[in-house]
Amino acid sequence: KIYRRSQGFLERLKKADASGTKAVSDVSLTVRHGETMGLVGESGCGKSTLARLVSGLMEPTAGEIAFRRDAAGRTPRLQMIFQDPYSSLNGRWTIEDIVAEPIRVHRLRQGRAAIRARVDELLTQVGLSPADAEKYPQEFSGGQRQRICIARALAGEPEFLILDEPTSALDVSVQAQILNLLRDLQKNLSLTSLFITHNLSVVRIMADRIGVMYLGELVEEAPSEELFRRPHHPYTRLLIDAAPDMDIGDRSLHPIAGELPNPAFPPRGCRFHTRCPFAGDVCRTTAPPQKTTEAGGMFRCHLDLDLSNASANMPASKA
Ligand code: SF4
Ligand code: MG
Repeated sequence: KIYRRSQGFLERLKKADASGTKAVSDVSLTVRHGETMGLVGESGCGKSTLARLVSGLMEPTAGEIAFRRDAAGRTPRLQMIFQDPYSSLNGRWTIEDIVAEPIRVHRLRQGRAAIRARVDELLTQVGLSPADAEKYPQEFSGGQRQRICIARALAGEPEFLILDEPTSALDVSVQAQILNLLRDLQKNLSLTSLFITHNLSVVRIMADRIGVMYLGELVEEAPSEELFRRPHHPYTRLLIDAAPDMDIGDRSLHPIAGELPNPAFPPRGCRFHTRCPFAGDVCRTTAPPQKTTEAGGMFRCHLDLDLSNASANMPASKA
């Protein structure tokens, strides 16, 4: 089963939210059944906007969100896991009520005993205990709350799971535990998911393919190991060099030189030209074409650079 974005979907999409106008444009992603697509980029690049659009929490002002339907014409069942496990759990509900809700909504089990048995199973699966079902969210730590959120998402038996910075709000030691749990669940349940993060080391652990976003655009997309072995976009190269191996605790939001321009007013031509060490005249006036690679990747750049070595060899930034 392949969930395919049609070409040109989300074209010129603009959406206002609390922090101003955020634009996501012309993003096309293909996520295969049982695979995880990682989406990485700096804060403000439009990752969360994209997640909200895909999940249906936000309506596109233009363009389309297309899912491949199954034989019966149904779209896949979605669940979402958010960054902040504090605000996403209702403090007046018991853990049992919280985890049981998607089971009830989607009528996945009938009868109180069967639902409770499923809740116990899910809590165990995420490393909690069935006795926790009687408690309230306030009685748990951040990491435990994220486990509850994961149990709730799994309760809906999602065919497509969206994880938006699921570990970014947690302590570093807890982040590793939650990532390990998610890895196990990925393998055991063959989940199909979109994993969003600003952290390239995290996405390297989690994703089969990685998409790199910059100012609302997908600038490169490739199988994970290929992206690290030979990135084709200068922004990807700089992100890789800024992310030390396994530094999953890194919270820096602007890991590379230069200010991120206002996403509401992206630079003309190539949106990355104000920070790109390779920028030439054409980059300042003309949007780069989308190119494909032999390894099954895509990138948008006027040049076709061999960036397989660290950016120590790059020219000094002209920005
Ligand atoms: Fe850099 Fe030009 Fe390529 Fe944009 S198109 S990434 S500015 S070289
Ligand atoms: Mg975000």
